[in-house]
Amino acid sequence: MSKVNMMNTYGRFDILLKNGEGTLVYDVNGKEYLDFVAGVAVNCLGHSHPAIINALKEQSGKVMHVSNLYWNVPQLELAEKLVKYSQHDKVFFCNSGTEATEAAIKLARKYGKVSGKPEKHQLLYMENSFHGRTMGALAVTGQEKYQKYFTPLMDGVQAVKFNDIEDLVKKMNSNVCGIILEPIQGEGGIISVQKEFLRKAKELCNEYDALLIYDEVQCGIGRTGKLFAYEKYGVVPDVVCMAKGLGGGFPIGAVMAVEKAAKAFEPGDHGCTFGGNPLACAVSLAVLKELIEGGVIEKVEEKSLYIIDKVNDFKMKYSLVKGIQGMGLMLGMVLMSNTKDFIAKCIDKGLLLVGAGQDVVRIVPPLNVSYQEIDKALSLMEEVLNEMK
Ligand code: PLP
Repeated sequence: MSKVNMMNTYGRFDILLKNGEGTLVYDVNGKEYLDFVAGVAVNCLGHSHPAIINALKEQSGKVMHVSNLYWNVPQLELAEKLVKYSQHDKVFFCNSGTEATEAAIKLARKYGKVSGKPEKHQLLYMENSFHGRTMGALAVTGQEKYQKYFTPLMDGVQAVKFNDIEDLVKKMNSNVCGIILEPIQGEGGIISVQKEFLRKAKELCNEYDALLIYDEVQCGIGRTGKLFAYEKYGVVPDVVCMAKGLGGGFPIGAVMAVEKAAKAFEPGDHGCTFGGNPLACAVSLAVLKELIEGGVIEKVEEKSLYIIDKVNDFKMKYSLVKGIQGMGLMLGMVLMSNTKDFIAKCIDKGLLLVGAGQDVVRIVPPLNVSYQEIDKALSLMEEVLNEMK
């Protein structure tokens, strides 16, 4: 099977995957891999989960797509469920994380414009952040490597040092319509925001009438051990972006907002042909049912502590291991060096892992991963650590 027909956009591992079940995936030669990448924090219920398969089968036999010119039943049911389990009042559906960011940016801009102050259009974003690859999202992504070939980028944005309250206060002003941040920076290296920083951001947004936007595309939907990462912090944003885990592997994204923010949007302001299509929404409903009512999320914290404990043991035993950071099943094992080598060796042994930021090995398995699978993954990692001694 030729690979030459694909555009050269990804630095891929040369593995051709064919099928998967639970936490396992198999390549075309039948080699088995334990999947601790989970589509980069997407496959929260693992591969081929029966609830997802059933939802796909059932809904595709009814109706897959209708336009947003009309209502559809799974869309309204999903919106109701999301509102019920969140602190937000309204939902907008899209298909991906970057689209969720775009919607949030546009909502903040419109919120600023309708305030009666035409120059209120500035967005503050964080250094080292990642919000997606489309031009709006890219403009608020604080990493030059993603931006450098695509300038000029959207105007009216300013970077703030992550977790630096002084810098945030310095840059906040009455022309700011929104502050966007990830509660846990994913691509940036699994770096958690500090509660004090969030509190200050919220206070400043209230003071200057701007929207506080959390990008929970990677850290949301149960990853932290709560449905929304903001529940871990107790600082509720005005707007929250989600995608990835929301569809458990089927593309769907969403933005939720509190009433005062949501009401800025009127018909014609924003839209998305496939956003909230019945098939995606039916799958998402099935995913949320498993995660919440099926008790998957409530077991995340315990699994997290189990992994953290073991990695702390690694730290005592192997000089390569510097520590562990993150929350729930969005963890990052920090190495002193040689991260690429470590990951390549793990993959060779049948454990899929991916890096994040500098020298961080991401540990983002399906949320329903078993302790036996965690033990297997940790023992493969330890084999590699021994080899790299
Ligand atoms: N926001 C965050 C925090 C992400 O981690 C990602 C993807 O990794 C995105 C946005 C973009 O999501 P997508 O690739 O679905 O556009």
